[in-house]
Amino acid sequence: MKKKISILGSTGSIGKSSLQIINLDKKSFNIILLSANSNFREIINQINLYRPLYFIVTDFFVYNKVKRKFKNSKTKILNKFDNVPSKLKFDITIAAIVGIAGLEPTIQFAKQSKKLLLANKESIICGWHILSKIIKRSKTKLVPIDSEHFSIKQLTKDYRDIDIKKIYITASGGPFLKKPISSFKKIKPTDAYKHPTWNMGKKISVDSSNLMNKILELVEAHRLFSFNPNKYEIIVHPQSLIHAIVIFKNGQIKFLYHDTDMKIPISNAIYNNKINIDKIIKKNNNFLGKLKNIEFEKVDKKRFPIVTLNKDKYLSKSGPIILNASNEILVDSFVKNKIPYNGIYETLKRVFKDRDFNKYAVKKVPNINEIYKIDNWARKKTLEIISKNYEKNI
Ligand code: NDP
Repeated sequence: MKKKISILGSTGSIGKSSLQIINLDKKSFNIILLSANSNFREIINQINLYRPLYFIVTDFFVYNKVKRKFKNSKTKILNKFDNVPSKLKFDITIAAIVGIAGLEPTIQFAKQSKKLLLANKESIICGWHILSKIIKRSKTKLVPIDSEHFSIKQLTKDYRDIDIKKIYITASGGPFLKKPISSFKKIKPTDAYKHPTWNMGKKISVDSSNLMNKILELVEAHRLFSFNPNKYEIIVHPQSLIHAIVIFKNGQIKFLYHDTDMKIPISNAIYNNKINIDKIIKKNNNFLGKLKNIEFEKVDKKRFPIVTLNKDKYLSKSGPIILNASNEILVDSFVKNKIPYNGIYETLKRVFKDRDFNKYAVKKVPNINEIYKIDNWARKKTLEIISKNYEKNI
């Protein structure tokens, strides 16, 4: 029987890569549900190409437009995830919405799916205590597909914390690894989108350029795996071919190498590592040649001051929710030219020092409403600091 697939965030970078993989094996998969926010052209294109049973369009204006266009189609156009029948079950869900908007849909689909391929890092960072319970209760198999976590999971699956000395999470260093620090003030959003090794969505590209993506990944790893957080270290590896390195106490060092294409972790997650990748990506796998040029370097804290943010704060109970919300506002403000590039770190530092930070960061977060309360505080505080310090730009 064909496997039933749903993809949340199907018009994004991860969503489209997943669709390309699934489309190559039509006899094994049935695309039941896709979702997007507002990309009208791509939504129309995907409905025509894949004919899913459901397409969820969250932007109300675009939803109405799509609904009118497909009023006689077999694809049902919905505006809300809640409207998906709860009896509908999926073999695989790929959760790839960007931002906190992915939290509730990911939790909902974790209940309805046998296997959850999780890209939406915000649902791990902000809602792990809720998501992990649901995954356990529903016996859903979770596979993180962020390449670093996909690698850590594979490398450590037979080991305990006591067996492990160190876990390196690699960072490419992004487009500004060699740029003079004195010119950082002039960095424009389009410069930050030009990632040297990965082709990704805009938000994660900005996060990669200043290493915030690594801080978020560190939080993710801390939530997903039960290792002492002090064992993680971020290391710059400009070629992005090795995604994680684990140093074991027994003298062995293991690392996971693969080309810089998210289709590799996604397809391995879909096919439980039993896939001939040559059928999916056409690349010159000059492994030995590439291995010769592999480099590692320590993170330069002057270039990437975000790594100096207080770890105890962003790993605290609800500190990650604040980190994530502030950063979402800051990336959005930078992209809209409301703050300079350096303003992301400068403002985060101020949010972390705010006298109310601890009040919100040490909260237990038993439910979604509590997450939104903390998220809202962080967003408001960040906007307040932005308007105080960068007022003339707003
Ligand atoms: P993109 O920006 O490329 O795509 C985001 C997707 O989410 C789109 O389908 C978009 O729809 C949808 N979306 C945006 N806003 C909303 C909303 N408010 N409600 C519902 N849907 C929404 O992101 P990426 O594919 O790059 O990243 C997706 C997630 O995966 C992120 O959490 C990212 O951190 C993580 N990730 C990404 C990697 C990558 O290589 N790209 C690697 C590892 C993790 P629309 O197109 O209509 O706006």
